Amino acid sequence: MILGAGQAGMSAASKLLNNNANFSVFERENIICGPAKTIQYRLFSLDIGPHIMCIKSHVDEIAIEIFKEPGGGSA
Ligand SMILES: Cc1cc2nc3c(=O)[nH]c(=O)nc-3n(C[C@H](O)[C@H](O)[C@H](O)COP(=O)(O)OP(=O)(O)OC[C@H]3O[C@@H](n4cnc5c(N)ncnc54)[C@H](O)[C@@H]3O)c2cc1C
Repeated sequence: MILGAGQAGMSAASKLLNNNANFSVFERENIICGPAKTIQYRLFSLDIGPHIMCIKSHVDEIAIEIFKEPGGGSA
């Protein structure tokens, strides 16, 4: 069980998924990514929090993969 779908939770979920583990992610909000989320306001997409991920490059690649938009864009 993963509590919270922020960066740590989604990174853990990505790793577990790649290892075919059986798990669930519980998030209290109706949107993932914690303070790194993007909200929609009318025609605009607003990043409300972090804009540069201060993490190692291999973790950065995981973050880009898991936080990319469903339509194919990237966060
Ligand atoms: C304004 C701001 C700007 C920042 N800018 C940067 C930046 O530029 N670069 C950078 O690298 N870092 C930045 N940070 C820090 C970065 O956001 C954090 O280090 C990172 O989000 C921590 O990830 P986390 O997964 O541990 O926690 P979080 O990202 O906070 O995720 C926790 C998740 O758990 C959920 N949750 C909490 N309680 C429960 C519960 N009881 N049940 C279910 N779900 C729950 C929350 O809703 C959230 O989605 C910034 C932070 C803030 C607040």
